Amino acid sequence: MPPLSVDAPLGSATTAELFNRHVMSTYARYPLTLVRGEGCRVWDEEGREYLDFVAGIATCTLGHAHPAWIQALTQQAQQLHHVSNLYYNRPQAQLAQWLTQHSCADKVFFCNSGAEANEGAIKLARKYAHTVRGIQDPVILTAQASFHGRTLAALTATGQPKYQKDFAPLVPGFDYVPYNDIEGTAAVLERWGERVCAVLLEPLQGEGGVVPGDPAYFQWLRRVCSERGILLMLDEVQVGMGRTGRLWGYCNLGIEPDVFTLAKGLAGGIPIGALLAKEFCAVFQPGDHASTFGGNPLACAVGLAVCHTLMAESLVWNAQQTGDYLRQGLSRLAEQFPQLVQEVRGWGLIQGLVLRIPAAEVVRAALEQGLLLVPAGSQVVRFVPPLIVTPKEIDEALVRLESALQSLAVGDSGTESLKA
Ligand code: PLP
Repeated sequence: MPPLSVDAPLGSATTAELFNRHVMSTYARYPLTLVRGEGCRVWDEEGREYLDFVAGIATCTLGHAHPAWIQALTQQAQQLHHVSNLYYNRPQAQLAQWLTQHSCADKVFFCNSGAEANEGAIKLARKYAHTVRGIQDPVILTAQASFHGRTLAALTATGQPKYQKDFAPLVPGFDYVPYNDIEGTAAVLERWGERVCAVLLEPLQGEGGVVPGDPAYFQWLRRVCSERGILLMLDEVQVGMGRTGRLWGYCNLGIEPDVFTLAKGLAGGIPIGALLAKEFCAVFQPGDHASTFGGNPLACAVGLAVCHTLMAESLVWNAQQTGDYLRQGLSRLAEQFPQLVQEVRGWGLIQGLVLRIPAAEVVRAALEQGLLLVPAGSQVVRFVPPLIVTPKEIDEALVRLESALQSLAVGDSGTESLKA
């Protein structure tokens, strides 16, 4: 019998046609099918090369096909890929050990995604409220313009009505504070009084437009939460694992959270999520929470390889250095195209170009120049390359971006150039 070909069922249909026929239409996709990746580059089915400054949306920490990542994945796959959490497995224990030794947390619960990690945090906060603080009807505060995922409680936590519309009724027990605004946050805290059991915030709002947290705001909130027994929970799903040039987003804020969540970059592209908590609030008992795939040996072995490679290749330091370099280059382009770009903001290797035009236009123009980018809200373009990115690759990305902006500036004016 001839070997089965993965192309066999395609027939004459293109990949896009098969998607449109068989896959639910939850994404507006760009018109390219990616088939291969190496380092910070990916290739489409026509063999065209792209610089990948999306990295699976801040997920491919080590880029594509990193030897350490491949080795961990294949070795573990050959040894033991999945067993139930009814039993111990060593990679889960080792990854939990690494995470707790390198963060302020004492205990870890593993799951499969950012939304699932945040669901776990919400359940943990509610159990803490009921059993430790005696709150019958607890309220969790999150921020306006935040993003915490698409499952129902994570969606409710997400303070953006555009994602919530059509999915009512949402989960009760949530309210929203203005991010980085002490007075506004204090007013919402006062309104709910003793019912507030937790505040869940991103250290830097990613989807909300690459808005870094203000250390003064977070330090004030830390004080208030400690005084009132409120859990301070941080969603590090997008910014954890070194992306900001510090291992954790909270290191940029001069505070420690009581609880934080991880996903995306933790295993560099293998599905994983984690809920981390300090001992005093790690209140889950057997039967309280579970996840079939959570913490399986395969995902945890790959996660551990990502953690070790971060250290072995000084990738957190690299994120800081190359992040500064990227930011300088983007700032030069902002000066060069003031009619298109307002400002640059971000930490390390999560930078946002704040635009005067729709982000989708810049993303499309960059794609034509062989540079993958992703919007963060309607007028911000996000740069989240793998943490292995080099200054040379950043130079290349900036050249491609300059051509993209140039094409938009020319298109805008109908004249030769609008370059300032
Ligand atoms: N939290 C933050 C801060 C995110 O950026 C995201 C995804 O973009 C999520 C949670 C949801 O993660 P997932 O898509 O893995 O459920």
